Amino acid sequence: MGDASFFYCSQGCSSEKLELFREVRYRCPRCQGLLEVGHDLDALKSTPPEVWKATFDARVGRTEWPFGSGVWGKKEWVCPEIDDNNITSFFEGNSNLFWAARLGAELGVEDLWIKLCGNSHTGSFKDLGMTVLVSAVAEMRSRGLPIQAIACASTGDTSAALAAYAAAANIPSVVFLPENKITPAQLTQPLAHGARVLSIRSDFDGCMALVKAVAEKPESPIYLANSMNPLRIEGQKTVAIEMVQQFDWRVPDWVIIPGGNLGNVSALGAGFDMLEAMGITTKRPRICVGQAERANPLYRSFLTGFAEFEPIEAQETAASAIRIGNPVSIHRAIKSLRRYDGVVEQATEDELNEAAARGDKTGLFNCPHTGVALAALEKLIARGLVERHHRVVVVSTAHGLKFSEFKANYHGGTVGNYRNQPLSIEATPEAVFKALGL
Ligand SMILES: [Zn+2]
Repeated sequence: MGDASFFYCSQGCSSEKLELFREVRYRCPRCQGLLEVGHDLDALKSTPPEVWKATFDARVGRTEWPFGSGVWGKKEWVCPEIDDNNITSFFEGNSNLFWAARLGAELGVEDLWIKLCGNSHTGSFKDLGMTVLVSAVAEMRSRGLPIQAIACASTGDTSAALAAYAAAANIPSVVFLPENKITPAQLTQPLAHGARVLSIRSDFDGCMALVKAVAEKPESPIYLANSMNPLRIEGQKTVAIEMVQQFDWRVPDWVIIPGGNLGNVSALGAGFDMLEAMGITTKRPRICVGQAERANPLYRSFLTGFAEFEPIEAQETAASAIRIGNPVSIHRAIKSLRRYDGVVEQATEDELNEAAARGDKTGLFNCPHTGVALAALEKLIARGLVERHHRVVVVSTAHGLKFSEFKANYHGGTVGNYRNQPLSIEATPEAVFKALGL
């Protein structure tokens, strides 16, 4: 088979290449393992690295369909089989990578950068994967596959992304949300886009098990959009490629990312792998995953050198989007961490609150998950793993405005070091000067 991209078994039970869009597949037909997307690397390598770099650079910030997207600007490396007419894109990606100079100076890491994936259409990095998944569904429907709706279980951001992209593609979407465990902003997004929202009396892991059972029933008309679906990884991996591109094709020393279901960790690895395979990079960054202490199954596994992994029941945490006890991408993520000399850190609620607020005080506006990553950074510095001269990228996964209650609770609370409250004063200049102490 000469296809440019294909599915293959993540467990390596055979080297068979499976066609992407001939039938609905989530698992290896032999061993039921998860699937990965592979690419015909030999064919891609016939294009020299300098030509790839120039091609990708030329597409940034333009409007030619679909290359203005940070994901589809790298279409040849993502999913070349999808017809451009079947692509749904909000020109996601190309998110800003900026120098966090003040925070870096405070922490003693002068080359600290934030990759703000929350600056995207639905406010999180999930857009990168969802554009590929929904476009793939449109491709399959155009080829006659009987998919009537797309469904996902979500801690909030995935459902927002699915609902928006499915609405744009005019495909019905169904989201399974754990009742009373997501923020009002995250509940409002899928409702606004007309998704069928099922509020499940369970936690995220329960929602995930349910949506899998529904989608994997034989002949199910519902297509599964969760991150066990490897098509999403193909879009998300562009975040790694994009950050290297933004550094003029140089690789940072460290990438720190918050981890829940861990699809983003395997995606980072996949992106760096692709750059190396194409001869664009030779250096590998180290990857650190930050987990909330109350939802830390990967951290516990890391303490055993990844020899053991036990799912846990995740406890309530302000980092609600990573409140996951049984991450679906655990094995792929561990593979990436082994390859990228990975480290896992954890953050208590106090630590993530303080790290997020400290970042905000320097002009960032962090979601709680980014707070977890920033707390992990502080620990890496304290342990001497991150050094002053290192170039460090913290991947910020969602926009802070999705989590206004998190910030309101912090600033209205009684313990935070960076709390700030409005001053209520009379409408006179004297009262203003008095309030300001001037
Ligand atoms: Zn297999």
